[in-house]
Amino acid sequence: MHAATRRAIFRRLKAANPAPTTELTHSSPFELLVAVMLSAHTTDKSVNAATRNLFAVANTPAAILALGVEGLKPYIRSVGLYNTKAQNLSGLCRQLVEKHGGQVPADRASLEALPGVGRKTTNIILNMVFGQMEIAVDTHIFRVANRTGLAPGKTPREVEDALIANTPLEYRKDAHHWLILHGRYVCTARKPACPKCIIRDLCEYKHKTPAKPGRKRGGGLARAIRARGARRHARNARNARSV
Ligand code: SF4
Repeated sequence: MHAATRRAIFRRLKAANPAPTTELTHSSPFELLVAVMLSAHTTDKSVNAATRNLFAVANTPAAILALGVEGLKPYIRSVGLYNTKAQNLSGLCRQLVEKHGGQVPADRASLEALPGVGRKTTNIILNMVFGQMEIAVDTHIFRVANRTGLAPGKTPREVEDALIANTPLEYRKDAHHWLILHGRYVCTARKPACPKCIIRDLCEYKHKTPAKPGRKRGGGLARAIRARGARRHARNARNARSV
């Protein structure tokens, strides 16, 4: 893909959603770490349902550690693989308490050493909490990057490296959010909404979903995503202020 096309894609994604953020509800770096860790192989909606109850009774490493693995399970039963995640979350809290003074560490090696925390979670924390230009590649971003031609790659790591190397600096910090939201709501796995897609003319995917006869391209989807992002941004900001 030509660099100018790549830049144009991000320009449009930014114009449609100038302040993108995560859909995981959180009010502290620790809560974000827990939410991202729990979100593997499950939806943000089910994670938010679980953390709403969990954080109401325990939202610090020490408090979650005190619940114990069995005490933790009832709160996260709605998320996939909750038995393993309960073990990992308890172990993660123990490490934070014993090695990091109860704080979320700011370096990759320490984050990736936490139980249940891999490269994707680490990149999200380094980006959102510590302001680093990392791009976490999940299933949505992997699909969008390959379909559009933005950053083709056979593995998430190849896509990540290509995105880091080729995303214009001014868009790199928020690239993760734009691409994940685009993959979740527009460029979906089974039937991408190509007729409504705001980057349709820039996307290199050869098997675009055809428009239904007589339908016009609209900006409704972009408006819906922008409104959803604004609401979530405001809620997370309110939560952060109340901590
Ligand atoms: S045009 Fe279709 S395939 Fe390309 S990014 Fe948009 S939704 Fe995805």
